[in-house]
Amino acid sequence: MQFTDLPLHHTLLKALDIKGLTEPTEIQKLAIPHALMGRDLIASSKTGSGKTLAFLLPAIHRALTKPALSRRDPRVLILAPTRELAKQVFLQLKGLLGKQSLRAALVLGGENFNDQVKALKHYPHFIVGTAGRVADHLVGKSLYLNGLELLIMDEADRMLDLGFAPQLKLIDKAADHRKRQTMMFSATLDSAELHYLTQTLLKAPHRVSVGSSG
Ligand code: ADP
Ligand code: MG
Repeated sequence: MQFTDLPLHHTLLKALDIKGLTEPTEIQKLAIPHALMGRDLIASSKTGSGKTLAFLLPAIHRALTKPALSRRDPRVLILAPTRELAKQVFLQLKGLLGKQSLRAALVLGGENFNDQVKALKHYPHFIVGTAGRVADHLVGKSLYLNGLELLIMDEADRMLDLGFAPQLKLIDKAADHRKRQTMMFSATLDSAELHYLTQTLLKAPHRVSVGSSG
């Protein structure tokens, strides 16, 4: 199977081609078709297996091909456990968006809050951030998630290990369950807390897993 066998927007296929990426990894092959169909998804595979593209490609495809639910609220929110991981996801996202007019903002803890408030007033379509700071913006009413279409939790297991469960629940409450799709990516899926979180945050999720770690 090649990326060109997947029903992805031509902008994405071109960006992948330029990067020299032709064949999806196992987790990408399993996850992307379900993600494109709008299903909730729990995906697990080991570190380095290409999970970032497994969620970025369907997320960008959606933003390029479907009308927005809201003109102001972000369409896609991607949460990562650490500033460094969020930055890496953001850079990959920017690389794939290329010259498209979709806007993306990075919302990290430890950075100036008011600068982020200003950035959020430009109504980014995508937000990549750490859960604590995203929750702070919800509480501060500088961010609304009523129009959110896609919530992605990257390294959900690590977010829980770092104690972000309360923030994840707050974010979940702010984003309408009836309208949004939720995808959770993780290296492991065995903790009781993660199980609880998947029960609360996802609706009838499809599960895909590669390797014994999942
Ligand atoms: P994970 O999140 O599962 O730890 P990453 O998304 O960080 O993995 O990807 C690990 C590396 O694999 C990155 O350098 C990425 O560019 C590369 N990669 C991702 N998908 C592919 C692919 N389909 N073909 C070749 N390399 C890929
Ligand atoms: Mg990753």
